[in-house]
Amino acid sequence: CGIFGVLGVQDAANFVALGLHALQHRGQEAGGIVSHDPEQGFNSARRFGYVRDNFTSTDIMETLPGPLAIGHVRYSTAGSKGQTAIRDVQPFFGEFSMGGAAIAHNGNITNANALRRELIERGSIFQSSSDSECIIHLMARSLQRDIPARMEDALRRVEGAFSVVAMTRTKLIGVRDALGVRPLVLGRIGPEENSGWVLSSETCALDIIGAEFVREIEPGEMVVISQETGVESRRPFRQKKPRFCIFEQVYFSRPDSILGGRSVYETRRQIGVELAREAPVEADLVCPVPDSGTPAAIGFAHESGIPYGMGIIRNQYMGRTFIEPTEQIRNMGVRLKLNVNRALIRGKRVILVDDSVVRGTTSRKIKEMILDAGAAEVHFRIASPPTAWPCFYGVDTPQREKLLAATMSEDEMRDFLGVDSLKFISLDGLYRAAGEAGGRNNSCPQYCDACFSGEYPVEPADMIEKGFKL
Ligand code: 5GP
Ligand code: SF4
Ligand code: MG
Repeated sequence: CGIFGVLGVQDAANFVALGLHALQHRGQEAGGIVSHDPEQGFNSARRFGYVRDNFTSTDIMETLPGPLAIGHVRYSTAGSKGQTAIRDVQPFFGEFSMGGAAIAHNGNITNANALRRELIERGSIFQSSSDSECIIHLMARSLQRDIPARMEDALRRVEGAFSVVAMTRTKLIGVRDALGVRPLVLGRIGPEENSGWVLSSETCALDIIGAEFVREIEPGEMVVISQETGVESRRPFRQKKPRFCIFEQVYFSRPDSILGGRSVYETRRQIGVELAREAPVEADLVCPVPDSGTPAAIGFAHESGIPYGMGIIRNQYMGRTFIEPTEQIRNMGVRLKLNVNRALIRGKRVILVDDSVVRGTTSRKIKEMILDAGAAEVHFRIASPPTAWPCFYGVDTPQREKLLAATMSEDEMRDFLGVDSLKFISLDGLYRAAGEAGGRNNSCPQYCDACFSGEYPVEPADMIEKGFKL
């Protein structure tokens, strides 16, 4: 999911809508905005579909006045799937004795089932099936006297991965879990004498509203921001060694964002360079599977000296296939979204570079399309190691049994996909590309890489209860 908040500019909700539009790649099922105005109080709008189709109409935006607003774009990793329940669309709102608060959450709470059971037993009335709603109910039960302190209480009970943007009547709040699995950045907007504050999942959404990047919210940090006092930093959690999601580097974040002081585009290009060194092959053409494979393909072509070409053309009006939550839509998606550039492909030995193989359905279809177009050979090079484990921290990978790499070796996958060769980047190569010159520190990895390594930095309690085996 994507989260965004703005404090201290007129009609903050308009800026939030733009920010969410720039974060649309993080969630395409639904979006929501809550705003606060001193005269009109809290208002909210939650809708299925793209930001641009909802939060551009004056009918909606006029209902969201005020200098403070937060928003969320959703893709379901917990709770209902797809566009079925508007009650699961964030931000969530709660009314407390000291006033209202709204929260928007990116990540996954790994002990949500246990928390929900306990809260319901003690009288909480849940409105949604979302794991994130637990935070509101835990806040309601806290005995602290102000809302940020109640949030601290609540989040100390929550396990898993979370970046949170929240608001009270006067404050904008941002939090990252102690491992800092999901991103969150702070920005500044407007002329110096009259400027406001911005929180965003990624820096690309600061750019769209002309905000200046200030810094990342640190793992385990909570910032409480008000117009009067500026940014106050708190440390509610026990300090841990950060484990940022390495898959944000490979796929999830936008390439024009900066993560950990490093360009995501540059990291992805470097993945291609590493891949070309680790798994060279003689061929005539390097093609990306657009758009997610593009920077790595550029790096691969550069390093190998094999010409780069657009052998597959993407229809710009389709979304990301995997964010479509049902298998049936996903299956259709490939053809609706990608087409082969026959004139370029015919007779050539083609290297296809993609970000990941999950179920293998995309890769199989693409291989068929490329061979139909008359390619002489097809070689797959994948910008991540084999995805052999599900993510429980906010990326929607399917159950373990459906992951190709969970049941097959690399050679079996090659045969299943029907390609001439298939190679994945090594974990070390991926770490090097992400700026870790010495590769992965196996005794204390610098990132979360559980979907590749099976080493989960937070025990997925709910899943273990449901029978998941580590
Ligand atoms: P599949 O192998 O399941 O057909 O799909 C792989 C494609 O889905 C990749 O090219 C990638 O663009 C996209 N994808 C990337 N990450 C994920 C993920 O975590 N889960 C799923 N289901 N698809 C992903
Ligand atoms: Fe990211 Fe994979 Fe860890 Fe999930 S399991 S947080 S996708 S690295
Ligand atoms: Mg892809």
